[in-house]
This record gives sequence, structure tokens and C-alpha cells, in this order.
Amino acid sequence: MKIVLIGVGQAGGKLSTALARHDDAMGFRAVRDAIAVNSANADLQDLPLDTVLIGQARVNGHGVGGDNELGAEIMQEDALELLDEVSGRIDSATEAVFIVAGLGGGTGSGGAPVLAKELKRIYDIPIYAIGILPGRDEGSLYQVNAGRSLKTLTREANSVILVDNDAWRSTGNSMEEGMTAINERIAERLGLLLAAGEPVEQDSVLGFSDSAEREIAQSVVDTSEVIKTLRSGGLAAVGYAASQASEDPDDNINVVTSTTRQALLTGTSLPQASEADAALLVVAGRPDVLSGKGIEHARSWVEAETKSMAVRGGDFPIDSDELISLVLLGGIERSPRVEAFMERAAEAKRETTEREQTKEPAGEGFQKDELEDLC
Ligand code: GDP
Repeated sequence: MKIVLIGVGQAGGKLSTALARHDDAMGFRAVRDAIAVNSANADLQDLPLDTVLIGQARVNGHGVGGDNELGAEIMQEDALELLDEVSGRIDSATEAVFIVAGLGGGTGSGGAPVLAKELKRIYDIPIYAIGILPGRDEGSLYQVNAGRSLKTLTREANSVILVDNDAWRSTGNSMEEGMTAINERIAERLGLLLAAGEPVEQDSVLGFSDSAEREIAQSVVDTSEVIKTLRSGGLAAVGYAASQASEDPDDNINVVTSTTRQALLTGTSLPQASEADAALLVVAGRPDVLSGKGIEHARSWVEAETKSMAVRGGDFPIDSDELISLVLLGGIERSPRVEAFMERAAEAKRETTEREQTKEPAGEGFQKDELEDLC
């Protein structure tokens, strides 16, 4: 899929950078352009991407703190300037735009839904979002912000792929790994999804040195399958797992099925999300050891597990000793994790409101609305 990435806010800029770097390092060339947008000048300084500073008239480059209403307002005010900057990057080959944002902060949380709405008014291609949910231990303001942002973003974007910051802990790695390491792991997973459907040059990917052996591998998975899987809209998640491949494709029947189980049961970007409206299984690995039978078995298993009749499957050739299963789940609103998160956000909202009411009469700010829309 040929895409343009727009990172909004600090997390959005950093994760977009990780995604662009991974895409480049792997030679996928799915990320055709990437920019970072922020109201905090300092957060744009170290990014290797083109950057756009918004809200200068209102916050003078100092950011919006945790105020996502202000984040939404300044995005709306500076939308034309930003769209102008973006328009030179989206061309007839672009198949989708991905807006990347942390939903718990201010600029990304408030700005991403507004940007999605504005982009959708202009472009016919899908406008997707990659939304980062705050971890359980993050303060109530993050939860409240994320709850409101998620609701609005789900309405405005064609689909929101959720990345739960808690997911990286539940797979045995703590937050102490640092955000950079976490972003790299997210980029490895989402990067493969973005690349699925792109023809990959075998000489770069499969390491052929003899030019006579060079040819273009046509991947079985097609970009349109990713778009179809996300067509129902709403929330989405990505499952990922990798295992050592055997040299014998027959032995890899079991490797593919067990790796796919791991991807869905323990490796999703949103834990406990397994029921879905639609799914796409992509199995990546060396073409000479990939097992078509294994992929078909695994696809049937995903169908039973997700309780969806719309499960697509295919392979994606990469130069690796491993077999990687990637499962894209579309339409996961009913998953226990989403319900738990919305409950957590509503609870945090109630607590914040109560605290504010005991302190002083309600003024401007978060207490004035009931998880209502940001724009
Ligand atoms: P903004 O700059 O106002 O949009 O706010 P942030 O982007 O800092 O959003 C804060 C939320 O994003 C919190 O939930 C953080 O845990 C999360 N976050 C901040 N930086 C990163 C990052 O680099 N990676 C990830 N995965 N999450 C981040």
C-alpha cells in the first residue's frame, strides 16, 4: 500500500519516524512521504521528518499541555495551511493516508479527529488513523482525553487501528524498554501491514547477488484486501508473531498455524481483541519455504476464532529465516478490551468532574462536557 503518514503530536511524530525508518530499512517503499505536525516546537526539533508547527498564534510554539480541546481548536484554525502542505505529498499513486497520534495527550488527541475530517472532505482515498491508547497506569487526564478522542476519531476516520501501550507489557516487555524501543516494535508490526501488497524487489529482499536472478516478486496479498478488511470502519487491531521457519515447506504447515494462533491470542496491538467483523491473514517469509496449505489451515482457524466469515489470506515474500503471521482485525468494537477502556475513560471522567466540583465552580475545561465530541 502506498501511503502518506501524518504524525500529530509527540507520540505521532515519533511513531511516524519509526514507521518511516523501518519501511526504508526493509526496502518496502510503502511510506511515500511522512510529516510531523505539532503545537510544541521542541517536540519537532529532533525529528528527521518535514515538520509543520500549528497554533503559533495561540500557544507560541509551547504546546497545549493536556488540553485536547485546545488541540482540536488550533488544528481547525490552521487546517488550511496544513492541508496545503499535505496536498503536495498526496498524488494519484497514494492509496491511503495514515494519521498517527497518541490519544491521551493534547495536540494529537484533539487534532487527529479534526485532521481526519478535513482530509476526508478533500480526498477519496481512505483516511486511516493509528491511535495509541494510554497504559492503565497513566493518569486520569490521559484516560479522559483518549476516551473522547477515540469516539470522535472513530467517527471521522475510515478506520482506527488501535495500539494499546499496555500491550507491550503483557507480552513480557515492560515500559522501561523506553518509548523508542516500543515504537520500533510497533513499527515492525504495522510496517509489515503497510507493505503487504507492495511488489518487493527480490534482489534487495531475497539477497540475490547475480543480476540474472533478479525479478520482481508479485505478492499474493493485494492492497485492496487491506482496504476491504478495514471497510466496515470502526476500530481495528493487528496481531503479530514470528517463529523460526523450517527448510521443508511441509514442516511449515504447523509452524504457520501455531504462529498465527500466537499472533491472534497473545500478540495483538490491542490485547484480548479476537472477535472481528473481518480479518486478513498475511504470512511473510521466504517464498521457497512458505506453505500454502499452512496458510489455508491458519486462515480457517482465524475464521473460527474471530467468528467472521470475511477472512482473507495470502503471503508476502521477505528475506527472513522466520515465518511471520500478521492478522489484521477490522471491526473489533465489541472486544472486552475496548469496552474496558471506555469504562476506564468514563470512570476517570467521573472522578475528574467530582474533584473539580469539590474544588471550585466548573469553568472552562474538561469538566464542561460528558465525553462529548471534540469538534
Ligand atoms: P501531544 O504531543 O500533546 O499530542 O501528546 P503525546 O503525543 O505526548 O501523547 C501522550 C500519550 O502518548 C500518552 O498516553 C503517552 O503514553 C503516549 N506516548 C507519548 N510518546 C509516545 C511514544 O513515543 N510512543 C508511544 N507508543 N506512546 C507515546
